[in-house]
Amino acid sequence: MEFAWEDFPDNDLLKMRICDLHVRIHGSELEERIQQLYHELEARELPFRPDCYLGDEWFSPEGSPVIAIPFYLAHPRLKQLELHQMLEVEGGTSEWCLQILRHECGHAYDHAYQFSSTEAWVEIFGNREVEYEPETYRPRPYSKSFVQHLPNWYAQAHPDEDFAETFAVWLTLPVEEWRAQYRGWKALKKLEFVEAMMEHARSHSPLVVNGRRLWDASRSRRTLEKYYAAKRKLYAEDFPDIYDADLRAIFEKGEPGDETAAQVMRRLRNVLIAAVVRWTGQRKYIGSELVKRLVSRCHELALSAPRDQSKLLIELAAYLATLVTNHMHTGRFKRSY
Ligand SMILES: [Zn+2]
Repeated sequence: MEFAWEDFPDNDLLKMRICDLHVRIHGSELEERIQQLYHELEARELPFRPDCYLGDEWFSPEGSPVIAIPFYLAHPRLKQLELHQMLEVEGGTSEWCLQILRHECGHAYDHAYQFSSTEAWVEIFGNREVEYEPETYRPRPYSKSFVQHLPNWYAQAHPDEDFAETFAVWLTLPVEEWRAQYRGWKALKKLEFVEAMMEHARSHSPLVVNGRRLWDASRSRRTLEKYYAAKRKLYAEDFPDIYDADLRAIFEKGEPGDETAAQVMRRLRNVLIAAVVRWTGQRKYIGSELVKRLVSRCHELALSAPRDQSKLLIELAAYLATLVTNHMHTGRFKRSY
């Protein structure tokens, strides 16, 4: 069998080193997605096709006109493991995968043609050095100066992300559609600028064609276990604090009933996570861990639930969404694509 590990239980699979998985883009579902991206570039008469390789996450290495795709997307068994470990698979569906590919393609085009080193680019997207915040950003959700493509107003993360997102919208929608959709928005100026830059790319060869492949999965000696431990630790830094006084205000309302607050929370767990993830755009793993922490805090405080629970679900959902939103707006979003 080509992939002897595909029938391993999770615990055994986790012991494997990433390089020993021998996963490849060739023959995987990614091949079709990348072809689709290339077709879209061809339809826009763009001759340059960025190379793709398997990395640890989605990114385009600084200065390299290539795209790194997370290795777990190259095999259904690894997608399943990712789902078990992180509760969702980023780019796991065809549409989601293409959405991120188009974004990374924007970076790869910038690395290939070095658009961002021109004064005109800086005037439109801002100074990449001055506005450089390596890890995080604070978005203004209602800004019309930025396009919206990936969640969490990602174009606002950094001038480079703004360009990649603008490129992605430009590539996704026909000219007349993005012109209509962004009519009256300041972001339209950015889209028109990308249109002009791509007109240039149509008739010019890239300045950079080769580049380093940072974090190549085929060379990573890290075990899957270590990989996931690090990934979960990174996500855990995003958890908002849970406030005991708020929990008391929610649960100690009216006459206590037979159920404990922790029991109620466990019962409502899935509905709460789904609602919070949907309306805050937060990662499912974070939503799930947050509810888990809420359950254990209710347990530690030995809170009981009120007899009349008619308003409880609404209160809890609103509280969780507010926690996450406040955290996002007073704290910072992590940059990740
Ligand atoms: Zn990006």
